[in-house]
Amino acid sequence: MKAENMEKSKQLKEIIKNSKKICVFTGAGISCPSGIPDFRSADGLYNQKSGYNYSPEEIISHSFFVRNPDLFYDFYKSKMLYPNAQPNKAHKYFADLEKQGKDVSVVTQNIDGLHQKAGSSKVFELHGSVARNYCTKCKKSYSLEYIANSQGIPRCTEDKAIIKPDVVLYEEPLDGDVIEGAINAIANADTLIVIGTSLVVYPAASFIRYYKGKNMILINKSKTSYDTIANMSINEDVIEVVEYLEK
Ligand SMILES: [Zn+2]
Repeated sequence: MKAENMEKSKQLKEIIKNSKKICVFTGAGISCPSGIPDFRSADGLYNQKSGYNYSPEEIISHSFFVRNPDLFYDFYKSKMLYPNAQPNKAHKYFADLEKQGKDVSVVTQNIDGLHQKAGSSKVFELHGSVARNYCTKCKKSYSLEYIANSQGIPRCTEDKAIIKPDVVLYEEPLDGDVIEGAINAIANADTLIVIGTSLVVYPAASFIRYYKGKNMILINKSKTSYDTIANMSINEDVIEVVEYLEK
């Protein structure tokens, strides 16, 4: 790690130590070390040739799900589900902070459920989660494994109706309760740590605005347009920063 980033990590460690309420806002970058690709990055899913005659944005939309559930699920299961992905050191670090008695809430743009899997209890998933799936008719819930192991369109065992992932698709609104919880967590935090997101993608930037404190820290491998707004910006691999914090 560069000396400059080491110095900043040292400061961050002190800030965390002195914080009463921490909010962690995470994007794809925190889950990359778990083997989940950032679908918006240059080599990510969205820039891959999808092999379909539709763009990924079209496929992962509400109307496409309704019209072409077979193609939707073909794409969803092969490109968006990582049933074997495990939480990494960064997910675990914040879950452990909570276990040690810190008030830590997590607001995430990720749908992988890895913060909960690591043990965090206050997680606001802006875009939903692949871990929750419901029958569109009777609302019976199904696991990620059930969806991943299904053949073709996953259907309810009770009534054969189609199952829908609890993931916010294009054309769908974010959940009102989740938005409220996320805004409260951000607005009430004395420290806001933003990890692995460039903040340019909706709705991240609009949420960050609610932060009123003096400790907004960004951890992102590359520079972002928000580096100047943050009180401190660490352009470093999040795992390396966390390893330093744990020392
Ligand atoms: Zn059902």
